[in-house]
Amino acid sequence: MSIPDLANRGKILSPSMTLAIDSKAKAMKAEGIDVCSFSAGEPDFDTPPHIKEAAAEALKSGFTKYTPSSGLPELRQAIAEKFKADNGVDYKPSQVIVSSGAKHSCFNAIFAAIQEGDEVIIPAPYWLSYPEMVKLAGGEAYIIQTKEENGFKLTPDELREAISPKSKMLVLNTPGNPTGAVYTRDELEQLVEVALEDDLLILSDEIYEKLVYDDAKHHSIASFSREAYEHTITINGFSKSYAMTGWRLGYMAASETITKTIDAMQSHMTSNATSFAQKGAIAALRGPQTAVEEMLAEFKKRRHYMFERISAIEGLTAVKPEGAFYMLVNISKSGLTSTDFATRLLEKAKVATVPGIAFGDDKYIRLSYATSMEIIGDGLERLDEFVQGLK
Ligand code: PMP
Ligand code: GLU
Repeated sequence: MSIPDLANRGKILSPSMTLAIDSKAKAMKAEGIDVCSFSAGEPDFDTPPHIKEAAAEALKSGFTKYTPSSGLPELRQAIAEKFKADNGVDYKPSQVIVSSGAKHSCFNAIFAAIQEGDEVIIPAPYWLSYPEMVKLAGGEAYIIQTKEENGFKLTPDELREAISPKSKMLVLNTPGNPTGAVYTRDELEQLVEVALEDDLLILSDEIYEKLVYDDAKHHSIASFSREAYEHTITINGFSKSYAMTGWRLGYMAASETITKTIDAMQSHMTSNATSFAQKGAIAALRGPQTAVEEMLAEFKKRRHYMFERISAIEGLTAVKPEGAFYMLVNISKSGLTSTDFATRLLEKAKVATVPGIAFGDDKYIRLSYATSMEIIGDGLERLDEFVQGLK
């Protein structure tokens, strides 16, 4: 007797390196090792109290049953109102689907739209889960390497060149992980124009929308025109804006045809996101937004400090992010691959970072500044010493 082989689908996947490194750093800490972790993109702040209270209250009062698969009507209503107020997009509550994290929402969208023979255009450096999701759906990721001198932004010419008869979808993530790039309205409009010439679907991942610095502004593609609206699947969630990573709550919105299909899919896969967590999400959207502003102010200070400190390290250059909470550091002068650099840095200096290769660019490592100033100060001191020791 032998155990049957598993499906090919899973065998072609790589596990999430951001989550793997984060778990490793957390395990080292639990063993008492003094690690400075810049690994996962997870706000170090606690979820604001009024959100926790709303969920705890719901749990205490027995709000522990199934909700409609696509989410509580009241939450979908609150999300539709948020889209109108913050993004200038008209979605009816029926066009909104609440899922177990924005990662789940992205997966739903890709799985519903992509099949064998389809190509999905993804600008690199990219958030590492997009290409894996495309593979799982049976499609192929077509990676476009963006340039540091263009601020890691895809240009209309690069997009035009990449489009083939197989192209089905374009993934845009602004503010971007891991680049921190924020596209201007004009830049997005030009890309959308090219994408629409070939009727591509656009997956617009806007999970970092609240985290923009200086003069950068977030723009939602679905607000541009009727055509853009119909071709776009907008993704957002609660993890980053409200420090709710462990709650597993995200959402997507799109045209009725797309949402209907995803609604059916989700009803067979996970059903609803956790009932009482959804009550917390209503409080997040309807309650005071001061915590978001406070987090942003803190991230801004850290970003400034991190950029200045890394720029002063001989042998490294940092790319100043306009949004999100990540910084790409160019390590190419070290002569090491990003995996070697990050592994040695963790082993020798006990500093956890993510190698750029995980995001499709080996010249960089990614540091998240969603961690305390103290850890940033200590960690960058160690990084400096480590780099000087490489010479
Ligand atoms: N999109 C991007 C660009 C991300 O960085 C992440 C990781 N947090 C997600 C989606 C998924 O977030 P979550 O599943 O925690 O809502
Ligand atoms: N998105 C975050 C990151 O890039 C969290 C980990 C993950 O979901 O990939 O670090």
